[in-house]
Amino acid sequence: MNLTQQYADTLPELVSPCLPTPVTQPNWIYFNDALAGQIGLSRDNVSLQALAGNAVFPDSQSVAQAYSGHQFGQFNPNLGDGRAHLLGEVQIGKQIADLALKGSGRTPYSRGGDGRAALGPMLREALISEHLHALGIPSTRSLAVVGTGESVYRQFGPESGAILARIASSHIRVGTFEHCAARGQIDTLKALFEYTCQRHYSDTKDPMDLLRQVSLRQAELIAQWMSVGFIHGVMNTDNMTLSGESIDFGPCAFMDGYNSAQVYSSIDQQGRYAYQNQPGIGQWNLTRLAECLITLYPNGERDERVEQAKSVLAEYEIDYQSTYNERMRQKLGLAELPDAILADWLALLSEQQADWTLAHTMLFEPDDWIELFAKPEQAQAWRESWLALNPDPDLARQHNPWVIARNHLVDHALRMAEDGDVEPFTRLLDHLKTPFDKPESEEWIRPASAGFAATFRTFCGT
Ligand code: AMP
Ligand code: MG
Repeated sequence: MNLTQQYADTLPELVSPCLPTPVTQPNWIYFNDALAGQIGLSRDNVSLQALAGNAVFPDSQSVAQAYSGHQFGQFNPNLGDGRAHLLGEVQIGKQIADLALKGSGRTPYSRGGDGRAALGPMLREALISEHLHALGIPSTRSLAVVGTGESVYRQFGPESGAILARIASSHIRVGTFEHCAARGQIDTLKALFEYTCQRHYSDTKDPMDLLRQVSLRQAELIAQWMSVGFIHGVMNTDNMTLSGESIDFGPCAFMDGYNSAQVYSSIDQQGRYAYQNQPGIGQWNLTRLAECLITLYPNGERDERVEQAKSVLAEYEIDYQSTYNERMRQKLGLAELPDAILADWLALLSEQQADWTLAHTMLFEPDDWIELFAKPEQAQAWRESWLALNPDPDLARQHNPWVIARNHLVDHALRMAEDGDVEPFTRLLDHLKTPFDKPESEEWIRPASAGFAATFRTFCGT
């Protein structure tokens, strides 16, 4: 494996060279053999010490990346990797990707933080990122989780520490652009724009073109989240990538019963990042990106460019809706999706809070399917109008997972791992990596008990 330093070399104003802080007792918790193979690593040739931050990879010049961001709508000019180190870029096929450590010690951006991460949240990121990838949804990837042998102190007391090794198409965020724009660093912003185009959108030469490309990818990404019932939970602008990959899995969760206002995060009191708000928040974040990109044009051109940006952002809504409808068409196994069938379906699920995943996956098992509904007559009436459209079981099967990262399964696996038993995590991850295969045991398919679902909350204390 050869590491390059393109980002750090091209954008020195946006990084701070700094090394990970060594840990006392590194130990393997998870290693992603398939992903490692793609970058020329294996269990035998990779150094545990290097993934724990105790040794440096040859050619690595570790840096922390600077960024800003709107967090819950408020601008914070001073963020940056407070506990992550970019070790350099690796080659995956024809693409380059970042190799970074998370939880690897303090950096100049740590503010009051300890630079560390707890085991549970790093395993959660490994589960969710690999699961999204297996669902065909763009995501950063998890290469390994290493235990540090040290404790970290969080909301509920001491926890085991861990480091995640992450592979990402890049770590360029909307907040990276905001960082340059807020400081009036126009030359750096221009260099960042050019580097982003070269890395992710090679045909793009114009800032409004970049906005258009990023908007399209984000529209597609969020439509795919919606189609599997995924709630990111903290869609701040620093957690939105220019590459269009999902990133930073803090209080995220998959919804069981369909409820468009669903929020799981304990810190999201207003429901800003509720399930149904995600497409609109995507557009809000892209508007922040647009504001940065406008400043790349000469003063005299800006009014006209603002109008152009508005029409690009309006197209986002169209792209989102068409991707979402396409996904729903496939999930329902239909050649065409009449608006009324979709609207009635969502109204039915919403009214009865039926399980989002199973209501789709079991469409062709009518006896089990009808059991998902408290008021079966209504469901049966919808079913008849749907059947009249000649749905195709194979199409639906290809687009409806059996297994999703259900909150009670994730919660159990993480609790057991925190108590020293990684086996439930490993078994769950195996199923999450093959979500379209029907598992033999019901335990991987069943929704949580009503009591669990009603009280489940995710915490940001990562
Ligand atoms: P997140 O909520 O994980 O996206 O993090 C928001 C910001 O806080 C990022 O700049 C992180 O690097 C930083 N951060 C989160 N946890 C810590 C920590 N334990 N120590 C230092 N910085 C942190
Ligand atoms: Mg983040």
